[in-house]
Amino acid sequence: MNRRQFVRTSIRAGVSVSAGIALAGIMFPETLGTREATTILSPSPPSTMLTTAPNTTHPSLLHESDCCVTVHISERVRVHALRSGWVQVRPPHREHTGIEALRLPSILLNSQWTEKMPVWMWLIEHPDGTFLVDTGENTRVHEPNYFGDAKGDAWVNRRILQLDIPPEEELESHLQRLGIAENKIDAVILTHGHLDHTDGLRFLPSPEILFPKIEWEKPFGVAKTTFPTWLKPRFITHDAATSLGELPAKDNPFQAAHRIASGLYTIPTPGHTFGHQSVLLIENDTAYCFAGDVSFSEKQLLAGGVAGICVSPDDARETYSRFKKLAGRIPLVYMPSHDVESAMRLQERRTMPV
Ligand SMILES: [Zn+2]
Repeated sequence: MNRRQFVRTSIRAGVSVSAGIALAGIMFPETLGTREATTILSPSPPSTMLTTAPNTTHPSLLHESDCCVTVHISERVRVHALRSGWVQVRPPHREHTGIEALRLPSILLNSQWTEKMPVWMWLIEHPDGTFLVDTGENTRVHEPNYFGDAKGDAWVNRRILQLDIPPEEELESHLQRLGIAENKIDAVILTHGHLDHTDGLRFLPSPEILFPKIEWEKPFGVAKTTFPTWLKPRFITHDAATSLGELPAKDNPFQAAHRIASGLYTIPTPGHTFGHQSVLLIENDTAYCFAGDVSFSEKQLLAGGVAGICVSPDDARETYSRFKKLAGRIPLVYMPSHDVESAMRLQERRTMPV
């Protein structure tokens, strides 16, 4: 069995493809479009490699010129943190306080922007295959007809997001720089369906796309007109019997998981969207979590703050609580897609405080 076959057979395929009605459709004129992140891999990098790219301006990022960081987390596994440009959001989008019912109006009516935050994607080189977690943004997102007939998606996205995507930070450029052919990626694991996590799909031939089944059936803020026409995801569901490495299923705070490869899992992490999932790589008794948009930062999770764009604040807080429990059971490196410190945390194997 080759690596691709292994990946395919190890996935318990989901079933149905239902159109799903986005809750956002109730909140916004049409379906709500949102934001968020991506990653990739390299041929024979040294144990830690920093690649420099121009055009980055974040004032507080320690390595502000680094758009690619490669870390050997063990003799057999290598992870590349790849930045796909920057995103700014309205301040109440990143964190909302106050009257719950005013969450969305406060975002749409706000005229301020946060500082630039990175859009991370992650490439995992693993003995069982090469896995990409999210695919980042692409420069075409600024084109007038990018959203096709979905005028509501276009309006909302452009109202609530400011994207700065240098061409040299698109997925395609990262792969070229790393010397990795697109067809070497065995599977893409999507944390959720927001465009800054999925827009890099256009650079890929048509690999296995692992998409949370709930996210497809019950989308929130997903602009499906931006998906490539070839996209036919393999749906991921999570079950209560799957252990997380040495951690028995009964001790998994998320109460369900899906095994993708040896030490590589997805776990259900709802809150930001109904079907949001995170990717967990357990290697040498440490869990590396590629957390998508569970929170904007680790600090936000630890403080209990919740983003304004969030389908269920209660579910988000429950997911936070489960991460804290997991961090108490296994050293946990927590890496959300827009945290300026995520790549550094990977480099330093800096674990979540408990
Ligand atoms: Zn998102």
